[in-house]
Amino acid sequence: MSDITAIFGDMVFGDAVMKARLPRDIYHQLRAIIKKGAPLEHETLVASVVASVMKDWAVEKGATHFTHWFQPMTGITAEKHDSFLSRDESGAIIEFSGSALMKGEPDASSFPSGGLRATFEARGYTAWDPSSYAFVKDNTLYIPTVFYAYNGEALDQKTPLLRSMEVLSNQCVRVLRLFGDEVEQVISNVGAEQEYFLIDKSLYDQRPDLRACGRTLLGAPPARKQENDYHYFGAIRPRIKDFMQELDIELWKLGVYAKTEHNETAPGQHELAPIYTSSNVAADHNQLIMELMKTIGERHGMACLLHEKPFMGVNGSGKHNNWSLSTDAGVNLFEPGDSPQLNARFLLFITAVLKSVDEYQDLLRYSVSSPGNDLRLGGHEAPPAIISVCLGNELSHIFECIINEAPYEQREGGFLNIGVDMLPRIPRDTSDRNRTSPMAFTGNKFEFRMVGSSSSVASPNIVLNAIMADTLRIFADKLEQAKNFNNSLSDLIRDTLRKHKRIIFNGNSYTDAWEGEAEELGLLNLRSTPDALPHYLQARNIALFTRLGILSAAEMHSRYEILLQSYCETIGSEAATLLSMLQRDIYPACASYMRSLAEGMVAKRACGVIPSSVMEEGLLFRLSLLSDALYQHGDALAAMLDSIDSGNDLLQNARFYCDEVLPVMNNVREIADELEGIVDRRLWPYPTYDDLLYYRV
Ligand code: ADP
Ligand code: MG
Repeated sequence: MSDITAIFGDMVFGDAVMKARLPRDIYHQLRAIIKKGAPLEHETLVASVVASVMKDWAVEKGATHFTHWFQPMTGITAEKHDSFLSRDESGAIIEFSGSALMKGEPDASSFPSGGLRATFEARGYTAWDPSSYAFVKDNTLYIPTVFYAYNGEALDQKTPLLRSMEVLSNQCVRVLRLFGDEVEQVISNVGAEQEYFLIDKSLYDQRPDLRACGRTLLGAPPARKQENDYHYFGAIRPRIKDFMQELDIELWKLGVYAKTEHNETAPGQHELAPIYTSSNVAADHNQLIMELMKTIGERHGMACLLHEKPFMGVNGSGKHNNWSLSTDAGVNLFEPGDSPQLNARFLLFITAVLKSVDEYQDLLRYSVSSPGNDLRLGGHEAPPAIISVCLGNELSHIFECIINEAPYEQREGGFLNIGVDMLPRIPRDTSDRNRTSPMAFTGNKFEFRMVGSSSSVASPNIVLNAIMADTLRIFADKLEQAKNFNNSLSDLIRDTLRKHKRIIFNGNSYTDAWEGEAEELGLLNLRSTPDALPHYLQARNIALFTRLGILSAAEMHSRYEILLQSYCETIGSEAATLLSMLQRDIYPACASYMRSLAEGMVAKRACGVIPSSVMEEGLLFRLSLLSDALYQHGDALAAMLDSIDSGNDLLQNARFYCDEVLPVMNNVREIADELEGIVDRRLWPYPTYDDLLYYRV
């Protein structure tokens, strides 16, 4: 496998294939549609020609079926397969029409809609998104699509993401025109680094919690402590190496620019980073990456865990969302340029990010909220639930000088006149690359590190794009009226920075001191999903999304409900799984061990070994106490679950799960983990953390 380029994109109906196979005029029409970034709904001629060519190509690649591939609000992808088979007078034929390419009607009733579709009209439609290329996988032609209700309301993640990209582009263009730049389009880019765990599949199969919930609900910490140096960036074991190699090859064939593979901090933890691409494609590709990690892992006898916190006390997994904006000419707007004007533009765009993030901390926090991520954020190894931006020392210093109208010493002669003076090249701050910041400026992009490893990157990027678009809209409104552009620009940057400088934090975000400081600064600290979700529906946030045309109020309400519902379901099913583990495995194991100790003592006495049974008595006594306590907590948990009325207000139930159920689950866990430490290893029903994390093949 020496020539990557020979296989790269081999299974993708990409630009080169289109160009080679489509009639010229159709190709150009399609390119124009792709550039616009809108789904294809009305262009029937283009669709039928493309469909026919696409089908021939897909059949050559071994496809017998096609599917409209979409991203309902479950966070993962969905697909419904149809074969190309059709029938005419002569019998069986292969057929794929333009309308089958453009529009599909999956059975939508089973996907969460949060009340958007009345039961009498449960239909949902999928429409081709040509900006994300079709591909062949598992003998099936995959067509990336948006998913919407009969009245046009979005039922998926892709629709608002596409809308957010377009709106952001429009506002960027307005601002750039003021700098004399004749751009037509600005693209939001994402490079999503994916963290994951690989564990032996046969051990995974023995853990009902991993199988049902993706995380361990019990498990004493390993005797061995996490040793960063030993695993992090360490040599990759052959079995893992084989997995990574196959993963890379499969991803390359699908046109995913898989680039970096390495070990991560925790034992058994790894990371894959692709080269960045447009947000929409990056979101699709990230879904493919997650899916292939699972299926290829299985082929290698391993289970891939994408949960944010599969093991308590061990580093969790995130998805660093590297985000930047670039013009259609490829100019990165978060990169300082070589002229005063370009530097002014750079400062303006960075200032816009600061304002957006400060004003919409709650939306960013909302965008990464999930029960899994709640266990990770603020865990002293992941960013806290508090949002702040790390700019690095050099850039922060420049902003300090602008805010205080203080002389900037790097510049001869004092003050920095924005738009007139040159800035020094801002170094990519390698000395203090802050790994603890939830949002770090890393030279030419912002790295948003709060995203959970299992979630789609669509949601955080919809928010990033939306809040940035709105800020740029306000900036453009102001600057378009300016009499003296440079003066207005300076004032705007300075005044905005003064107002929002509290969001800049370059220190260690993992400390308690920062938590206190952030509180004094008035920064939000939304610790849990039920804390964060209600913010989504605040009037100003609904106003933001509706003003920009990214989501309607109804669509937002539906999303809010779906997320709350899914929160309740997740914790509910975790609690039920935990209970069943207690009842079916742990209580019996404890009882067996107690019985064998008791029988041993009786036997001892029968042999006349009297009276010393210190160890057996001591153990039995402790086991008995702990088992009773475990049983009582288990009972309390069962009663709690019984008491929940699913007809209640969703938020009320979510709060109950968060504030009442989770703490009892933790109590159960604490006792069970203590028992794990003293029960006969041969009787303990599950592989331990040591087995799971350090098993080597
Ligand atoms: P890091 O900065 O985390 O050490 P890299 O520079 O290798 O690592 O980038 C990490 C991720 O950021 C990769 O997915 C990479 O493609 C992505 N990335 C790099 N430049 C940009 C950019 N301008 N916009 C968005 N993502 C980017
Ligand atoms: Mg990174």
